[in-house]
Amino acid sequence: MKSRTIRGDRLHIGIFGKRNAGKSSLINALSGQSTAIVSDVPGTTTDPVFKSMELSPLGPVVLIDTAGIDDAQEGLGKLRKERTQNILEKTDFAVLIVESASVDFDFEDKLIENFEKEGIPYIIALNKTDLKYTKETEKWLKGKAFIGLVSTEGKGISELKNRIIQTAPTEWERPFLSDLIHPQDIVLLVTPIDLGAPKGRLIMPQIKALRDILDSDAIPMMCKERELPSALAKLREKPALVVTDSQVFPQVAADVPSDILLTSFSILSIRQKGDLRQMVEGVLSVKNLKTGDKILIAEACSHHPLEDDIGRVKIPRWLNSQVGGGLDIKTFPGSEYPSNLEEYKLVVHCGACTLNRKEMLKRQEKALSAGVSITNYGVLISYLKSVFPRALKPFPQIYSMFDKKTSSPGFDIRKKMAKFAEL
Ligand code: SF4
Repeated sequence: MKSRTIRGDRLHIGIFGKRNAGKSSLINALSGQSTAIVSDVPGTTTDPVFKSMELSPLGPVVLIDTAGIDDAQEGLGKLRKERTQNILEKTDFAVLIVESASVDFDFEDKLIENFEKEGIPYIIALNKTDLKYTKETEKWLKGKAFIGLVSTEGKGISELKNRIIQTAPTEWERPFLSDLIHPQDIVLLVTPIDLGAPKGRLIMPQIKALRDILDSDAIPMMCKERELPSALAKLREKPALVVTDSQVFPQVAADVPSDILLTSFSILSIRQKGDLRQMVEGVLSVKNLKTGDKILIAEACSHHPLEDDIGRVKIPRWLNSQVGGGLDIKTFPGSEYPSNLEEYKLVVHCGACTLNRKEMLKRQEKALSAGVSITNYGVLISYLKSVFPRALKPFPQIYSMFDKKTSSPGFDIRKKMAKFAEL
């Protein structure tokens, strides 16, 4: 059966190497399918190609054919550097493929320098070992561990797979909510079915929550916001946790008794993909916003915006009403993430369900390096709709920071947050 794990939840393995070193044929051999384009003409593939597969016992992975990053016509130009950087930012593990007939290793040395700078574990695969090695290759390989391949014939592929399994990081992702619940707990999910809901299916964070609850031997229940009072009344036992769509936060918070833990899909999603502490810290800058400030709304996927779209209509409206109007709000969907972040006062990011954790953390790091506060849809909505800090109560280390001292003069949340290494 076809695996449904989305790309953002897979270990990202970048296959790096010069044009025609054999990246595409290696991906075909590893995955057993001809997804990547293979040709003797250098530079046949120009954009990264993603191939999802299962690499048991590692689990779901995505192989990235890093095409175009050594395009000779672009030289060492800006575009090439940007392409490489873009791929490195989502790479959890790298395979560097080298040809036995190479005579120049500047490209490979630069890549290794980048892997080390970005903290990316990697292995070297020497391709075309059926051909004579150049003396330059022999010299370069001295003292380096590598695996020999003839990728077009599948030789050395099993050994390479085993080495990837042994060397790749095993914990590249965090749980969605399984660490918050116990077997037999009831978890109630509130999912509005409005115009924004896709026809005939649930959205990814809702599916993830359901799967995590089942995997934890707990009991999922699901209802729309209108049926919530009746669902709660019918339960003999209180739910251990209620998770709601952020858009109906105030209504759900009013219906769910205060002794029941409540949070949102978006907060759980960003906790899994990024650093929730930074998102909470970022939301506190909303009180300093003023007319004319630039706000960046970043969505990790592109979708057709609806009439009352959360990122394009509702959040801008709520933020504007907070400051008295006149905010300069720009929305960037999909893989676009602007480099001029320092022009903005605040970045508001979606739940990032389509990004891997590495990429989301990088986006947060870029905002902070530019001196810009960053927060998330769910955290922001809970703040604007007075469900803050209640929506953080399921995460005791973060919630404990929001006691009465937050309103005291001189309270420094940055200092307080620095005490918590990890959520
Ligand atoms: S906008 Fe963000 S949270 Fe929503 S579906 Fe796209 S990636 Fe996921």
